[in-house]
Amino acid sequence: MRRWIFLVPVLAVAGAWAAFERPSENERLRALGNLYDESPALRHLLTPDADFPPLPLPRPGDWLEEHPENGQTFEEYRDSGANRPEASRRIIYLLPIGDFPDDTSPPLADLRAYAAAFFQLEVKLLPAYATHDLEFEPRLNRHSGRRQVLTTSIMDFLQTRLPADAYCLLGVTMTDLYPQASWNFVFGQASLDRRVGVYSFARYDPAFWKDARGSSYRRVILQRSCKVLVHETAHMFGLLHCTYYDCVVNGSNSMPETDAQPQHLCPVCLRKLHHAAGFDAVKRYGELARFYREQKWFEESDWVQRQLARVPQSVL
Ligand SMILES: [Zn+2]
Ligand SMILES: [Zn+2]
Repeated sequence: MRRWIFLVPVLAVAGAWAAFERPSENERLRALGNLYDESPALRHLLTPDADFPPLPLPRPGDWLEEHPENGQTFEEYRDSGANRPEASRRIIYLLPIGDFPDDTSPPLADLRAYAAAFFQLEVKLLPAYATHDLEFEPRLNRHSGRRQVLTTSIMDFLQTRLPADAYCLLGVTMTDLYPQASWNFVFGQASLDRRVGVYSFARYDPAFWKDARGSSYRRVILQRSCKVLVHETAHMFGLLHCTYYDCVVNGSNSMPETDAQPQHLCPVCLRKLHHAAGFDAVKRYGELARFYREQKWFEESDWVQRQLARVPQSVL
């Protein structure tokens, strides 16, 4: 649900689409495209290996079972004309909206650092905006009884605060969100054209779902928040949901589905983001590995190290 490109429904509506057909290996390679023009180091990193398993077949209730999307090849992405960072507009701004209580919130400095490593762009954390009680069309959710605010109202506000040098301005909040009266909730909403988006981290604390928090719950909150931040921000670069490999840009219909998805981009999506942001992919993985080590996310740091080990010294 958090992964729908603009809106993130809690209950996906079963549609009359044909069932999802998982791309074959040939189709995955076709989606990746001809790597001939890429640098030697990037070619190594974009060549699929055992660390990029194909997307698992969707199970009942999974995103692709309810939304059989067609995917977006690298070529389709390149030809889509999506916004790309330019010299005068290449800063990602994060604007905290409302309170971020210590015990239930991801540390904002960590989110900033992660986004900077992931997108290889400057990410600036703005001073928090203190909301008042009646702002952003609040309501009480009829199921949870919790307070929610309206995404579109926040996005209108964000647009008035969009810095001239912003690639995008992302509002982040611990308040639960809804996108229109008939919806239960959304994790986030973004507009590529308007360069603004808002994401809520209200539902990433296991306690929200009445699950036991466990000793590592703060890590769970940060990991989920980092995933949604990069997934939704990837949409702001024009990336559609990935249907090729296990990937942080895969759609998701539930917290367990999200938790089972990886933290990283698959080769198709890495190539798209590289096309948009034009970074040094080796430097990017080095910075991500450092972030993961600092957070003691050793599974992730090992994964990145294996990727870096594929690049021969001779092409660095
Ligand atoms: Zn999405
Ligand atoms: Zn992907």
